[in-house]
Amino acid sequence: MQKVGKMMKVFVTRRIPPEGMQILSSAGVCEMSVWDSDEPVPKTELLKGVQGAAGILCLLSDKIDAEVLNAAGPNLKVISTLSVGFDHLALDEIKKRGIRVGYTPDVLTDATAELTVALLLATARRLPEGVEEVKNGGWSTWKPLWLCGYGLSGSTVGIIGLGRIGMAIAQRLMPFGVKRLLYTGRTAKPHAAEVNGEFAPIDTLLSESDFIVISCSLTPETQGLCDKAFFSKMKNTAVFVNTSRGAVVNQEDLYEALKNGQIAAAGLDVTTPEPLPTNHPLLTLKNCVVLPHIGSATYSTRGIMSSLAARNLLAGLQGTDMPSELKV
Ligand code: NAP
Repeated sequence: MQKVGKMMKVFVTRRIPPEGMQILSSAGVCEMSVWDSDEPVPKTELLKGVQGAAGILCLLSDKIDAEVLNAAGPNLKVISTLSVGFDHLALDEIKKRGIRVGYTPDVLTDATAELTVALLLATARRLPEGVEEVKNGGWSTWKPLWLCGYGLSGSTVGIIGLGRIGMAIAQRLMPFGVKRLLYTGRTAKPHAAEVNGEFAPIDTLLSESDFIVISCSLTPETQGLCDKAFFSKMKNTAVFVNTSRGAVVNQEDLYEALKNGQIAAAGLDVTTPEPLPTNHPLLTLKNCVVLPHIGSATYSTRGIMSSLAARNLLAGLQGTDMPSELKV
């Protein structure tokens, strides 16, 4: 473990982009312990590292539960996560202890929406299969129906969760000639008018969409939302894309739906667990494209996320306004 600086103790659970580290080390208010690795901190080391900490800067792969909070003890004032998702934080326990939470909304919206569009197109137009055929000699000649897929032009797109990222995905998809854009969520969104979005009951969205994109947050209500009943309402020609969290999907049911031709294809940037074991049944299917959770992975976005997480942490330590505070 690498020690830097002094004063209030802060535990950083991973090596993060230098932008954030520079902000923390030059602030002169905290003594940092860093889990100086690209791999997740083991639970035992996390429990040790947070002892007496006033601040924790964590990642989405670190489960911050009652055990971690107890290990940290009463000095803990702030948890700053390098993510917009906060399903890894036990918010009820955090709230009870009066701990503030910082997160990184907005700054990763464009990168994640862009990756979602890339994944949708790669899945619908079968790009990984095509690349593989070129390499393995399967490309014999131009054939009228070989490697055909589905196009966005004239299609209906259904977005589940038209939040920041869902809206940015819609804005990027509409110029492809999408005919109708349906969305669901807990409430209708005034901003949907900008993309001619129609607020629709989920069953309508499922039965009428050619592409279904999941961009909602993971909550008790959305956990396992995409299950057998969900897939059975989709068109056989529909393409399913999930860039939210893996647990929104029942993967056994998705596997069956893909295998049985209930739906055409699926593109996943998020899975349960992460990493997905290399012998997982989903990886045996040609109509399933799986990416290793790279939604926000551009150099610039990760640098900005790092500096925002650092500034949130410092504000929490100093009791000032955070640039992005999650109201718990
Ligand atoms: P956001 O603006 O808070 O949007 C979340 C959306 O989820 C809202 O539109 C919300 O709709 C919807 N939602 C909540 N409960 C729902 C339910 N029961 N049914 C349907 N929709 C529901 O958050 P964001 O910034 O767009 O981020 C969304 C999620 O993307 C994050 O939570 C994170 O898990 C994921 N993410 C993934 C990556 C990646 O690398 N793949 C990167 C960034 C974020 P209402 O307002 O109507 O409730």
